[in-house]
Amino acid sequence: MKQRTLAILKPDCVRKNLIGKVVKKMEEAGFKIVGMKMVKLDSNTAGEFYAVHKERPFFYDLVSFMSSAPCVPIVLEKENAIEDFRKLIGATDPAQAEDGTIRKLYADSKEQNIVHGSDAPETAEYEIKYFFSSKELVENYG
Ligand code: ADP
Ligand code: MG
Repeated sequence: MKQRTLAILKPDCVRKNLIGKVVKKMEEAGFKIVGMKMVKLDSNTAGEFYAVHKERPFFYDLVSFMSSAPCVPIVLEKENAIEDFRKLIGATDPAQAEDGTIRKLYADSKEQNIVHGSDAPETAEYEIKYFFSSKELVENYG
């Protein structure tokens, strides 16, 4: 069954002019882009999106980073999209990520790690709605 997941090209990806390269990896791996936009998050919005991490020691740095430059949220569609996209991006820390993964290829650190991917069906649903209305998502891609 087709499934959707939320990816975010993080500020380091945008700053390093890697949007095209990362989108290419998504397309080559068989994901269809069904929604895409550019947003500059403010710290409240970034903090709300990452609220699950608010007690973690890196929360303040994470929120500062995510609001430091524009981001590109993207809704991806594919069979088994959530799990497959997590595999494509690799471990949170690029030093631990497998060869060929997006974070291994492009990320500098476990904080500035290029891309976000939803981790479960419930979070994917919440996170997609966080950035996109239903009118901004394409149906019947073809
Ligand atoms: P993932 O993005 O792989 O799902 P988490 O949900 O655990 O990872 O963390 C969310 C984001 O917070 C990470 O992608 C990274 O940007 C940042 N982060 C996670 N762990 C750390 C850490 N130990 N130090 C600094 N930043 C971190
Ligand atoms: Mg996560």
